[in-house]
Amino acid sequence: MMETPLTANIRPDGRLDRAGYEATGGYGALRKVLADMAPGEVTQMVKDSGLRGRGGAGFSTGMKWGFIPLDDERPTCIVANADEMEPGTFKDRILLEGDPHQMVEAMAVSGYAIQARYAFIFLREEYRPAARALERAIGEAYEAGYLGEDILGSGYHLDLQLHTSAGRYICGEETALLSALEGHRPLPRAKPPFPQQSGLWGRPTVVNNVETLCNVPHIVNHGAAWFQGLSRTEDAGTKLYGASGKVNRPGAWELPMGTTAREVVEEHAGGMRAGHRLRGMLPGGASTPFLTDEHLDLPLDFGHVAEAGSRLGTGAIVALDERTCPVGMLANLERFFARESCGWCTPCRDGLPWTERILRAIDRGEGREGDLDNLALHCRHLGPGRTFCAHAPGAVGPLESGLKHFREDFERHIRERRCPWE
Ligand code: NAD
Repeated sequence: MMETPLTANIRPDGRLDRAGYEATGGYGALRKVLADMAPGEVTQMVKDSGLRGRGGAGFSTGMKWGFIPLDDERPTCIVANADEMEPGTFKDRILLEGDPHQMVEAMAVSGYAIQARYAFIFLREEYRPAARALERAIGEAYEAGYLGEDILGSGYHLDLQLHTSAGRYICGEETALLSALEGHRPLPRAKPPFPQQSGLWGRPTVVNNVETLCNVPHIVNHGAAWFQGLSRTEDAGTKLYGASGKVNRPGAWELPMGTTAREVVEEHAGGMRAGHRLRGMLPGGASTPFLTDEHLDLPLDFGHVAEAGSRLGTGAIVALDERTCPVGMLANLERFFARESCGWCTPCRDGLPWTERILRAIDRGEGREGDLDNLALHCRHLGPGRTFCAHAPGAVGPLESGLKHFREDFERHIRERRCPWE
């Protein structure tokens, strides 16, 4: 039977309180690491498991932890990035609302691995039910001695605090998130130094996504080989995939890593709605380049999606059907990214509104010859290495790929001086 460790305890009849979570083996991983494992052993196990970041970038979790200097005198911090704002993505909300103690245990076990003294969950502002669930779980964990001073008599101390985001997309960029946690405007910082060397208030800090961290107690309980065996491909574990757009049952499901887009859309999301056909998809949220219906049988893991010219991102498929105008869809996406630019660097602040304006003009039938070259030029100037953080390169990923896959649709708008979908 397919194993779904992350979501196995999420039930329709309500989330587990501490006793319920313990009854499923909860806090067993914390007991195990405190009693039997050195911090470096936990990190090595996570490295061996092949766990890669589920926030979108897919960086090796064990390697990231390995950059933390364990002999540093400065207190170390661990931060869960729960500022889930990628359009189409709601997987972390399911974990936080449905099994908040899993998140708390994940923070304690991961904190122990890097010998963190302070832990924070940085939560998206709108996730109010998740905030209530986490506050209660954190309180219960303190009462039971799973958090605070001298956890379970081990001599290890960890304080965990919930922090609610100010509500902007850029707050989820890890260095902007750290600025926000310190009480400043959420401006990204230059990397290097990476947060592992100089993060929260200049202390060694690890920032990991919620889904990433929730895997850790299960890896500790069952081992690295078990985790690798959950996957269908080289990238280990399960993945919470999602589907939205004109599908019958939008949602998110925990499936083996490497599940194909066809299986996600046709089996789990119930296929496209009657009269709609999938034409393209953003495989991992709004900031990942388009794939097309030719890629439906592609295993969705980091390597295969990258080879196909996109990124696994958050694994949340946003489906484009043939009755939706791709130019209009891209104009909407670029409006979102333009509005959410922090304004710090010029190419992003000025370039993204220009892409939106050109796309809107084309969509209204007011496109001009040269607009497509102009858009391609914007994609180059806003691409990787040209801006301060990943916001603008993420924003132009769908645009650049959309210009490639749907070029004829752009050209028809300009030639016919109207939107063919209206
Ligand atoms: P990144 O590749 O710059 O970094 C990923 C992680 O690896 C970071 O924690 C970084 O500190 C670490 N890292 C990378 N190189 C390192 C090095 N040489 N040494 C030490 N650590 C290193 O990516 P990013 O800017 O953090 O994230 C971009 C991703 O975020 C995109 O893939 C996008 O899909 C995703 N995203 C997700 C959401 C969401 O709601 N989940 C929202 C927006 C964007």
